[in-house]
Amino acid sequence: MPILNRAAELQTEVTEWRRHLHTKPELLFAVENTAAFVENKLREFGVDEIVTGLGRTGVVGLIKGNLGEGRTIGMRADMDALPMTETSGKPWASTTAGKMHACGHDGHTAMLLGAAKYLAETRNFKGAVAVIFQPAEEGGAGGHEMVKDGMMERFAIEEVYGMHNMPGMPVGQFGSRVGPIMASTDEFTITIDGRGGHAAQPHKTIDPIVIGSQIVTALQTIASRSVDPLFSVVVSVTKFNAGFAHNIIPEQALLGGTVRTLMPEVRDLAEHRIKQICEGLGAAYGAKIKVAYARNYPVTVNHRDETGHALSAATNIAGENQVSGDLDPMMGGEDFSYMLLARPGAFIFIGNGDTAGLHNPGYDFNDEAIPHGISYWVKLAEMRLAA
Ligand SMILES: [Zn+2]
Ligand SMILES: [Zn+2]
Repeated sequence: MPILNRAAELQTEVTEWRRHLHTKPELLFAVENTAAFVENKLREFGVDEIVTGLGRTGVVGLIKGNLGEGRTIGMRADMDALPMTETSGKPWASTTAGKMHACGHDGHTAMLLGAAKYLAETRNFKGAVAVIFQPAEEGGAGGHEMVKDGMMERFAIEEVYGMHNMPGMPVGQFGSRVGPIMASTDEFTITIDGRGGHAAQPHKTIDPIVIGSQIVTALQTIASRSVDPLFSVVVSVTKFNAGFAHNIIPEQALLGGTVRTLMPEVRDLAEHRIKQICEGLGAAYGAKIKVAYARNYPVTVNHRDETGHALSAATNIAGENQVSGDLDPMMGGEDFSYMLLARPGAFIFIGNGDTAGLHNPGYDFNDEAIPHGISYWVKLAEMRLAA
């Protein structure tokens, strides 16, 4: 079955919503206008219940089916943009310098609203659909906030699904996989306190730059010598700040970076090795080294049965050869991971065509994907909540 006729009819209207949201990007939890837009639309559609302010600025709409009592499934979109300046040159480009929808969350929100409109019109299912609009996906763990706020219990959500666009994947295609699909994203900061002094008398100093350089090199062995080569890990030092003059060895150096993994065991190992390496090198050179390790988003792990349901809905819409059930996992992070820790569910990617990449200043969500995304959501709801 191809995309639903009604979803195709909705494309023009949903594209308008998407472009409107695109002109007015908002960051992290400060998505008040976007959340108000979502709330107004849900009210217009006549959904049965709307709750705002969940997880600070999240919105949930509950749509009850016409085919009787039943379970509730959750379908989630994210609303926030990124702190960067757009260069797409599109007529609907961001009107605010330093804020931009460079991850397509405007498209995700618009497509889920389109599906909500469709489902509120037809209600051809039993039980209920909770449409979830979350703030702060880009680093604020807004999804986690909504879970902590009791969203799953409040709406009796039994399964939860998420969708993200993927540049480079043709429009009309979908992809997912069972198990880890997105990485955990941790951050570390290493402070090296040595002893500063004259650059011409290095023997009287404890040079934090030399020690920092050895730490950077030693950290490379986590991927190459500590973790099983069949498993994935990224350890990247992305900051190295020290010194201010050509003739002074500084007191202190600061390193910062990120760790990405697809398995909890590898995550634990990487954290342990970073601390161990720093402790050892600190002892060897007589420097005080502090490691601050912050665990951010956990691994996004798709559940087996629900991934099967997501892939069947996608296949129903797009046809078998347009759907991959064996997509390679990615080392980016997703805070939908927190919803998948709270309830079984699955995260799926939808083709965004040949556009600039995510988080690129030239990126724009592809409106051609809209009817495919709406159709996927509607089909998923109708299949999972069939009478
Ligand atoms: Zn992003
Ligand atoms: Zn995103």
